[in-house]
Amino acid sequence: MGLNIIVCAKQVPDTTEVKTDPVKNTLIRDGVPSILNPDDANALEEALRIKDEHPDSHITVVTMGPPQARHLLLECLAMGADQGVLVSDRALGGSDTWATSNALAAAVNKLGEYDLIFTGRQAIDGDTAQVGPQLAERLGLPQVTYVTEFKLEGREVTVKRALEDGYELIKLQLPCVLTAIKELNNPRHMTIPGIYDAVRSDIPVWGVEELKIDPDKVGLEASPTNIFRSFMPAPKSKGIILEYDTAEEAARILVEKLNDRNVIA
Ligand SMILES: Cc1cc2nc3c(=O)[nH]c(=O)nc-3n(C[C@H](O)[C@H](O)[C@H](O)COP(=O)(O)OP(=O)(O)OC[C@H]3O[C@@H](n4cnc5c(N)ncnc54)[C@H](O)[C@@H]3O)c2cc1C
Repeated sequence: MGLNIIVCAKQVPDTTEVKTDPVKNTLIRDGVPSILNPDDANALEEALRIKDEHPDSHITVVTMGPPQARHLLLECLAMGADQGVLVSDRALGGSDTWATSNALAAAVNKLGEYDLIFTGRQAIDGDTAQVGPQLAERLGLPQVTYVTEFKLEGREVTVKRALEDGYELIKLQLPCVLTAIKELNNPRHMTIPGIYDAVRSDIPVWGVEELKIDPDKVGLEASPTNIFRSFMPAPKSKGIILEYDTAEEAARILVEKLNDRNVIA
């Protein structure tokens, strides 16, 4: 029994190089090294493992982003995905999570038949972990986030969900949305034959027109959340190391310093 699986994957700046546009308060993406969002690699890997078990399954990777996000799709195809779709349009620029989930839901509906949607738990740039659950909401689907284990029996899925202080086991029926975290699996690498096929594959680009989406539902202007200011926090001042002959001496000096700084009375 093959499944139609959709994976939502985001191209993110390689975190060591984040810069923000001081006027628009959005991230500067042009020319910044980008990577496949780590949790999305786990999402794709889990889909590929289902396909290993059920070879007649089909995996489509959907990404919303600027034209250069096409590279992410080539990477996913070279890992083993069957199809990539780039959702890209200037009108989508600056979309917050609400607007992003509207655009992704429109792309999923345009793809038609699906049994399972995987997203990552969180993108390492926006860091909101909101898009997966919002997408499920838009599509009226059950969802489980923070998935660390996945089992499929017929159309029933059993997942292990990570909590802060433990796990919960959840059973649900397909179709559903699951958000992946790194504990779920170790993503495979691209293969040479995979790269060979990927660069020859046709990747459709869908904008607002192709998605037939109301422009009031996407983009910076339509986004209820506006990033007022984004900035790199000032680097913390270097700490001081108290080195004294005895612990008592060090403790006495520490108390003095904390006192001087009114940390303790
Ligand atoms: C520094 C910063 C702070 C931000 N703060 C907010 C905020 O507080 N509220 C807000 O609404 N927006 C915020 N945004 C905008 C937000 O990043 C975008 O809306 C983004 O498209 C989705 O949110 P996210 O990055 O938090 O993704 P998350 O919700 O963390 O992503 C979860 C998963 O959804 C999928 N996904 C997310 N984006 C895409 C995409 N473009 N294409 C395909 N799949 C995708 C991926 O599988 C991803 O792992 C912020 C952006 C930045 C750069």
